[in-house]
Amino acid sequence: MSAASGLPKALADILEGTGFEIEAPETSKIFTNRDLAFEQIAIIGFDMDYTLAVYNQAELEALSIESTITKLIERGYPENLRRMSADPSFAVRGLMVDKKLGNIVKMDRHGYVGQAYHGRRKLPRSERKSLYRAQRLGRERARFAQVDTLFALPEVTVYAEVVERIDHEPKGFRGPPPSYAQAFEDVRASIDEAHRDGSIKDRIKAELDRYFVIDPKLGDTLHNFRSAGKRLFLLTNSFYPYTNAVLSRLLPGGGGRYRSWRDYFDWIIVGSMKPGFFTEGNAFQELTITGDYHGDPVPEPQRGRIYEGGNQLGLQAALGVHADQVLYVGDHIYGDIVRSKKSSGWRTALIVEDLEHDLAVQRSRRYVLEEIESLTHLRIKLTDEITAHRYLASVLARRTAQDLIDAGVHPSRAAAMLEDSRAQIRRRFDWLRKYEAETADTLERRIDEINAAFNPYWGSVFTARHDTSQFGAQVELYACLYTSRVTNFRYVSPVKYFHSPANWLPHWKRVAES
Ligand code: IMP
Ligand code: MG
Repeated sequence: MSAASGLPKALADILEGTGFEIEAPETSKIFTNRDLAFEQIAIIGFDMDYTLAVYNQAELEALSIESTITKLIERGYPENLRRMSADPSFAVRGLMVDKKLGNIVKMDRHGYVGQAYHGRRKLPRSERKSLYRAQRLGRERARFAQVDTLFALPEVTVYAEVVERIDHEPKGFRGPPPSYAQAFEDVRASIDEAHRDGSIKDRIKAELDRYFVIDPKLGDTLHNFRSAGKRLFLLTNSFYPYTNAVLSRLLPGGGGRYRSWRDYFDWIIVGSMKPGFFTEGNAFQELTITGDYHGDPVPEPQRGRIYEGGNQLGLQAALGVHADQVLYVGDHIYGDIVRSKKSSGWRTALIVEDLEHDLAVQRSRRYVLEEIESLTHLRIKLTDEITAHRYLASVLARRTAQDLIDAGVHPSRAAAMLEDSRAQIRRRFDWLRKYEAETADTLERRIDEINAAFNPYWGSVFTARHDTSQFGAQVELYACLYTSRVTNFRYVSPVKYFHSPANWLPHWKRVAES
């Protein structure tokens, strides 16, 4: 409940940004997987890219695709890749690339592949089943690459186009076409190089307003944390010149308390090499504010200075609080959340932009979702009853009139009684089958409709057919909190207690239901 909801709007407006809990819009909610007392959090760390810095995805994707293709063509890939017409909704977070077969798949929480494309061609159910029937990710980890962040979407888009060309236009390659696995390595290497050699970053730096969504509430959000007594740090894989350019635009200094973006943070770590930051022991190299190296590497960072590299244990020692008093906010499901949760003991908050779209669709299609839920229950009941009737029919088929006579039925009625019962079961069975088929058909159409609203190729990133997607399961397991943007925290009071919903095993009845 909002503490300020009964206030006049003008008053509520001026309270917003002072840490009062103003009612957040549905799409700005923060969701809780694991209880968290915000009051106990002494220090909040932030990743930069896609966390503090929200990219204009369409622009960044176009730039990444163009830079990657330029490098692929230099490697002998077909010139006509330049003219590929990529559909931006094809690549979403949480997919897996099957490098061996040139497929892009979506798995559920158990590693079961429920949807698959070969290049841009959807694999029919039979083909998908024969390829992935026994697939469990654990067994062949190296064969699959997970799409962990929004940075990785362009490589999926480009890879699918490359697979199409390997299959249908192999002559377009200089020399023999690569294997699917080699093609993925080439795409990966090309985009990696484009990130590192300036092809992408120089263009972004030159047009920051084109590539970022500038949110004027970001500074207020960080300031709120600070005025509630929390200390902040920045922990980003971006290097200093880029970090400095981006944050100077997103957190402009000025008069007042914050002369530059650096003043928002007590500790600043750039070029951190996550996930290695959490598992390895690199030293911290101090930098000057112009980005030059200053002095020798040190084991622990000091407040108010800027460092490159480093490691989690050194930072933890410098923070001087228990690991569970630190909340780290990032967008990379593996590098920021899974790895830090496993190795550091920090509490975690995942920024997942896709949530806004997911929530908006859930809201606009809520009646369809209700219908899907009730049709699903109905279908389960019908299939259970069909199975029971099939069994009953098979039992009756083996019984004879003599069995009834032995049980005391008059011989003149036994045969007819058996026949009537069989006919009755058959009629009920036929009716159930017809009803079930109609229900399944409507259900299928409703599911297609809702999936198309989430994403025409993959449905919601959080679900896989009747289950949680693999990505959804990682979010549930590793992110204590998740929300669509850092600035959603401006609705949160410093004393908020985040309650997770009870998540019982199936044999435990929920209190609310009992
Ligand atoms: P963070 O999210 O703030 O930790 O930073 C992510 C950084 O990694 C950004 O500077 C990205 O440009 C960079 N990045 C993303 N993908 C790649 C890649 O494939 N190779 C090299 N750098 C990457
Ligand atoms: Mg990031």
